[in-house]
Amino acid sequence: MMALEQIPKKDWYSVLGADPSANMSDLKQKYQKLILMYHPDKQSTDVPAGTVEKCIQKFIEIDQAWKILGNEETKKEYDLQWHEDDLRNMGPVDAQIYLEEMSWNEDDHSFSLSCRCGGKYSVSKDEAEEVNLISCDTCSLIVEVLRYN
Ligand SMILES: [Zn+2]
Repeated sequence: MMALEQIPKKDWYSVLGADPSANMSDLKQKYQKLILMYHPDKQSTDVPAGTVEKCIQKFIEIDQAWKILGNEETKKEYDLQWHEDDLRNMGPVDAQIYLEEMSWNEDDHSFSLSCRCGGKYSVSKDEAEEVNLISCDTCSLIVEVLRYN
């Protein structure tokens, strides 16, 4: 399986000056306020060179943020991606393990691995195709799943 190319991710919430827990109407309010503030038509022309460009840049950014966060579907997708990054940042990833080294459970068609806390990392065969990080069902440790090429 080919790894998806990692595109640099932006914190679109902070572009809107919002918290990831903000609800849709909060986000909308912030967006509307900012988009007015940075709207190219609202800028005076006698400002130092470069300022207008910066505003336009910002305006575009705010618009992009809203395109992603203002739509339930894309917001959900973005939140999921962000969550995986969060897990990674929250880390530390306790171990890297090859999927093939995990125990295969014929009963429920899943792979599992014991955590040192006594809990269990577990991932179903289908999920294993998709996920890279698995968190322990008991503690907060995370393992990264690798695959033989
Ligand atoms: Zn654990």
